[in-house]
Amino acid sequence: MFKMLVAFPGGKDKALTMSYDDGVDTDMRLIEWMEKVGAKCTFNLNSGLFAAETAVRAEDQVHFRLPKSRVATLYRHPLCEVATHGSIHPFYHKLPTSSILCDILDDRRALEELFGRIIRGHAYPYGAFNDTVIEALQQAGIVYARTTRAHRSFILPQDWLRWDPTCHHNNPQLPELTERFVTQKVGRDEDGWLFYLWGHTYEFRKDNNWNIMKTFLETVSQGKDIWFATNIEVYEYLTAWRSLVTSADGRILYNPTATDVWIKTCERSSKPTETIKIPAGEAVSLG
Ligand SMILES: [Zn+2]
Repeated sequence: MFKMLVAFPGGKDKALTMSYDDGVDTDMRLIEWMEKVGAKCTFNLNSGLFAAETAVRAEDQVHFRLPKSRVATLYRHPLCEVATHGSIHPFYHKLPTSSILCDILDDRRALEELFGRIIRGHAYPYGAFNDTVIEALQQAGIVYARTTRAHRSFILPQDWLRWDPTCHHNNPQLPELTERFVTQKVGRDEDGWLFYLWGHTYEFRKDNNWNIMKTFLETVSQGKDIWFATNIEVYEYLTAWRSLVTSADGRILYNPTATDVWIKTCERSSKPTETIKIPAGEAVSLG
């Protein structure tokens, strides 16, 4: 039976994405470290809670939000995506639908104005949501939203508005998961693997454990075949991949999107798998 499995851009077998919340000063160090290895991250910001321009962090202050002017320069970076996190970090599941809609649209509008880009991502404040929250986010143009529920695996998201991460950086299984992700080969019958790490960088200051992130980035930088992507890049790529059109026998593949996609095919167990590029807007016939 002809099988079609997900490969990532360039035919890569693995992808890494990260998501860090609240727009705090410690994000600056993470971005410096990301630059060394080319890792990418989505930063989830609260546009109604920027610090005053003149604010100074007290010596014992762990969670220190950045002022608007610093936010505008710091996250305007090719390795960063900006996403919403509620304009005032609300408990959405306790609000009426109209208030959720107002808050999320306020956040989108403010961040889009600040960055001059379309912003469609979200991370649930406090990880809290229910079906009403999801419906409101959809109506407000949000296409994906990250939860705080760890699945401790490398599966690809199916439900974008309940996008569960692999784990938080404080998860005791992180070293073992990272090692497995980097050193093991993706099985011939498996879709590509996605590692999704999340947290808040102020926690590294609070817990005095920046070494966790340092080790994580060093380990993934040694991996071959890893696509570093922001959350929206993963969303856009997999959405394009899932839009592929096939002939009845699966041998003609048409990519109606504006994104090049790669597939891994596996016809018979005796044959090696093949990775094929289906360019944007083109049809490819398999031999
Ligand atoms: Zn938060």
